[in-house]
Amino acid sequence: MIRKLLRRVFKRGEPTPHKVETIGPDQHGIRVEGVSPGARRTCITLQEAGHRAFVVGGAVRDLIAGITPKDYDIATDATPDQVRHLFRRSRIIGRRFQIVHVMQGAETLEVSTFRAAHDEDTLKDEHGRVLRDNVWGNMEEDAARRDFTVNALYYDPSNGKIFDYHHGVRDLQRKTLRMIGDPRARYREDPVRMLRAVRLAAKLDLRLDPLVQAPIREMAELIDNVPAARLFDEMLKLLFSGHAVECVRRLREDGLHHGLLPLLDVILEQPLGEKFVMLALADTDKRIQAGKRTSPGFLFATLLWHEVLANWETRKKNGETPIPALHAAMDEVLDTQGEKLAITRRIAGDIKDIWLLQPRFEKRSGRAPFRLVEQQRFRAAWDFLHLRAQSGEAPQELSDWWLAFQEAGNAEREEMLKPDTTPKKRRRSRGSRGGKAGEEAAAVPPAPTFTD
Ligand code: ATP
Ligand code: MG
Repeated sequence: MIRKLLRRVFKRGEPTPHKVETIGPDQHGIRVEGVSPGARRTCITLQEAGHRAFVVGGAVRDLIAGITPKDYDIATDATPDQVRHLFRRSRIIGRRFQIVHVMQGAETLEVSTFRAAHDEDTLKDEHGRVLRDNVWGNMEEDAARRDFTVNALYYDPSNGKIFDYHHGVRDLQRKTLRMIGDPRARYREDPVRMLRAVRLAAKLDLRLDPLVQAPIREMAELIDNVPAARLFDEMLKLLFSGHAVECVRRLREDGLHHGLLPLLDVILEQPLGEKFVMLALADTDKRIQAGKRTSPGFLFATLLWHEVLANWETRKKNGETPIPALHAAMDEVLDTQGEKLAITRRIAGDIKDIWLLQPRFEKRSGRAPFRLVEQQRFRAAWDFLHLRAQSGEAPQELSDWWLAFQEAGNAEREEMLKPDTTPKKRRRSRGSRGGKAGEEAAAVPPAPTFTD
């Protein structure tokens, strides 16, 4: 410990310190009113207590790019205990490297103490992946351990200045994503940075610096060593970035979707699977951009559906009964994914609910349809069926029929369930309940479905 401390003290002046640029509001364009009140208040409280405190990372980057930040990170030289004592509504989280969550109104700010860069004592796995980095450092060191130059900007809300150690503002203005340090070494330390590169470039419409881009293809397999829970979090970030289609497009451009996104491997090779997945991703992007709610269960259900279908098909061909075979197929697909991607139990439950309701859409007689529309997950399951129909995997007529059924009153529902021997009366016209879908449903004969 003492040895390490001494080394650190002596090392301080050793590598030429980075010349820090100070950038004023006229150059970076952030207006202080655009910064969340909670982030401002947190910085000011820390500063008034004699500490340094800045808004840092993604929030500064997004503000310069004109995007409203999702959340704010604060970097400070105060220790977690000192931060904790300054804010009544705060708590220390994390065991290995402690950070403090500070609550300000409805906001939660993540306050981290400046962290040191890695040195030869840093614990790594056999591929060079950093297992532990929990040493406090100064602001310059904190900047150096961040991934991309655009993520290493420190904004001081009290005077509107940005401290920029790695030309991040310039890179952002030039629309380039550049790594701090040697990209190969930084990917080895943390392979998730490859996914972050693609996601951030898609989100901010940046070009990957050639040095950032080039090693990804050959280093992609290092992703295999990332713990499944971390990979799952990162996949969620990518898929729910509001730019998932663009992320996948960029990944495929370089053939990177294979190693990096195990989930998309097989699916994107199947014509129907690809159409289905891309429709689902586009739909999710649209919802996120419109500020609507999205569910990870739904999206993961779409991503894995064609795996389930293929597995289910094989089982049925081998003589297994359809519904138990579907259960077995679902379990096998989720287990296989689970090795690489720690899908949480709650999300796995949501995924299964959606899948299990699919065969039930085929029973359009008796009381079954009435029971189905009452199911809690009916709407999500129907949205799923709707996407299947759009991709050509399920009959459009089936999706339309269920739309009409859910919107119909009781009498109409009974009518819809009468055996289809005589031509049916025209249903209510467009604009009233039932709508166009109802009319088509009455006119089109049932098409063969996927369980046949
Ligand atoms: P977004 O919030 O849009 O997902 P972000 O860049 O803010 O993007 P976070 O995961 O919130 O991503 O991380 C906050 C900051 O922490 C980053 O801006 C970066 O400075 C640093 N950081 C995050 N992940 C890494 C990493 N793998 N390696 C180095 N620095 C990282
Ligand atoms: Mg962030």
